Amino acid sequence: MASPPIPSPPLLRVLLPLPLGQPLSYAPPANQPLPQPGMLVRVPLGNRESLGVVWDGTAEALAPGKTAKAIQAVFAEVQPLEPALRGFIDWMAEYTLNPPGAVLRMCLPMPDALIGPPPSRTVLDMAATLPELRPSAARQRVLSMARERPGLSQAELAEAASVTPAVVRGLVTAGALVQRAVASDHRQPEPEGDAPGPQLSEGQRAAAEQLSAAVAAREYNVLLLEGVTGAGKTEVYFEAVAEALRLGRQSLVLIPEIALTQAWLDRFERRFAGQAWAWHSELSPGRRGETLRAIAAGRARVVVGARSALFLPYADLGLIVVDEEHDASYKQEEGAIYNARDMAVVRAKHQGIPVILASATPSLETLQNVKRGRYRHVPLPERHGGASLPDIAAIDMRKQGISRQRFISPALQMAMTETLAQGEQAMLFLNRRGYAPLTLCGACGHRLQCPNCSAWLVEHRGRGRLLCHHCGFQARQPDACPSCGEADRFKPCGPGVERLAEEAAELFPEARVAVMASDTMTTPRHIVELLDRVARREVDILIGTQIVAKGHHFPLLTLVGVIDADLGLAGGDPRASERTWQLLTQVAGRAGRAERPGRVLLQSFMPEHPVLAAMARGDAQGFLAAELDERRRAGMPPFGRLAALIVSGPDQARVTQAGRDLARRAPQGSDLRVLGPAPAPLNFLRGRHRERLLLKAERGVDVPALLRVWLSQVALPSGVKLSVDVDPYSFL
Ligand code: ADP
Ligand code: ZN
Repeated sequence: MASPPIPSPPLLRVLLPLPLGQPLSYAPPANQPLPQPGMLVRVPLGNRESLGVVWDGTAEALAPGKTAKAIQAVFAEVQPLEPALRGFIDWMAEYTLNPPGAVLRMCLPMPDALIGPPPSRTVLDMAATLPELRPSAARQRVLSMARERPGLSQAELAEAASVTPAVVRGLVTAGALVQRAVASDHRQPEPEGDAPGPQLSEGQRAAAEQLSAAVAAREYNVLLLEGVTGAGKTEVYFEAVAEALRLGRQSLVLIPEIALTQAWLDRFERRFAGQAWAWHSELSPGRRGETLRAIAAGRARVVVGARSALFLPYADLGLIVVDEEHDASYKQEEGAIYNARDMAVVRAKHQGIPVILASATPSLETLQNVKRGRYRHVPLPERHGGASLPDIAAIDMRKQGISRQRFISPALQMAMTETLAQGEQAMLFLNRRGYAPLTLCGACGHRLQCPNCSAWLVEHRGRGRLLCHHCGFQARQPDACPSCGEADRFKPCGPGVERLAEEAAELFPEARVAVMASDTMTTPRHIVELLDRVARREVDILIGTQIVAKGHHFPLLTLVGVIDADLGLAGGDPRASERTWQLLTQVAGRAGRAERPGRVLLQSFMPEHPVLAAMARGDAQGFLAAELDERRRAGMPPFGRLAALIVSGPDQARVTQAGRDLARRAPQGSDLRVLGPAPAPLNFLRGRHRERLLLKAERGVDVPALLRVWLSQVALPSGVKLSVDVDPYSFL
């Protein structure tokens, strides 16, 4: 008689932090309690092992004859990934068409840092009873330092006492100092929710109360904190952070530019008498692990970071702030493509917490969400301390009669002369790194191009290099033209900030000129130092790329000259006007932030363009209304939806074929259109040819679902890669 089959235990789904389509099935570990969803586990994968997270739902049955491998280890001591974060991961994967495992990897960027005992280090204490010692001055210094500052390592103690490590080692051997292992993770001074902030104005207080109340309500809410540059948005959202601190909950503040982190941290420390934790790509691996543990354990009370900080496994997140919410750098364009501002709103929804979007120039999407009643508007009406907004005027470059090798117009030069004569500072803004964006051969007209990209090489004279800003390719300037062989005939064309600095120094030989660009400022400390020099008035003319546009406050800076206000307006980007508007407004906001009124001059070859005309009239509302109208007419976001498909590969014929195959299977409907395929404006990038398709749909269309069906019908030839960009910001 056949014995009844033994029921096998149900299989579990385990999501691995790898770009896999879905969770894999594993048998539960033998003789252990069943692991619960969210728990960190180790599983076999092929002939390797991987960490993973037990996922929700039931695993599909395996094909007959196949047996599932078992989970090897369960890390029950690690805080499980909470349901809100798991739900967020699934949602984001669906929406952005990224594999859920790729999203999990962003949430657990180094899972190993969370398991096992926390790392420790050895420190030295005074022995309870001192042995007989041959006295020496060096030994005395070490012992009194060890008494004064317990908990130093051998190296630290040697340095503090100005002796060689051998002296300290000798004291350990003699038994005068004893070793002790301590957790090496830092304990940073904790910020205090009750630390007194500045005296807020009435308008600021009203706004701060709304934000704090939203934190105290512990529920999902999106608040747009809108106020001109200098209105005190940071001071005001700090009040919401203070509320979260008082409730014992964590806050996350996203900022658009890593370079600004240090200045933000310093300001935070002054305000809260304690420290926030930074999270961005420049952290050392040790510091990353330490920060991740502090975040997961809830010790990191306030975290400031770039977009990647959004995904971390916070123990008890109570508030998200997205500073400069309109900023395009929230859009991650490589690997997993997403917009961190939008995903912050989604995460807040899953967590049931408020999110504050702060900006002087909110995106049209966000303004439209306010109109639709989805987001709450919290306005800050004026500049703090009654500072007035600057005077803005356009300089018509067609009438300036300026040589083609010069970029500072006579009108701007005159304004600079006046400003400097009054002991004030001027800033020149040009969103172009390097010396010149194009170098050509004066003999044959040959242009120096990147071998890997359809882009020109940009001369960086300071470094003596030609650089590709797209792929990072570098070369020395060749001695002779690679096309015609003529030597020394290269001519720089157009300005970058380095060239502008040269011109400024020629025009104003007495003035102290400094350049600020993301490639000349290698560390956040550099930036802070330069900012301090500007604030101390050791710089007369500050020249910079968009890094100078953001968030700084210089009381004596009263003149801003925008060298090429038209720069962002060319090309087929539907957000070009909006983005230029935001950038110019932001730059203009640097002028006259204290008692002295500011002045902004925009050099342009088309001052009649709606963006520049509205800037000069100071007509924000008029510009936004016209731009919204235009978008509505064109069915563009926020009134319609977009998704871009980019096919790329080393073999041009295959890429073209893949583009055509995609177009043949394109979805059809009265509420959508597919444009392309067409060669991308940047049709060759990092050695790959690129074609684009654009899906344009009405707002009610479920674009991700449509894309999934579409893409499942097309098999890509080998070597061809497809990236999907839902809600694209870049059209290159
Ligand atoms: P925003 O973020 O809107 O540009 P900030 O919060 O940076 O504005 O404020 C601009 C400047 O004004 C900062 O130096 C800030 O410390 C100062 N400030 C703003 N509000 C106050 C206040 N109520 N009391 C004192 N200083 C303030
Ligand atoms: Zn390149």
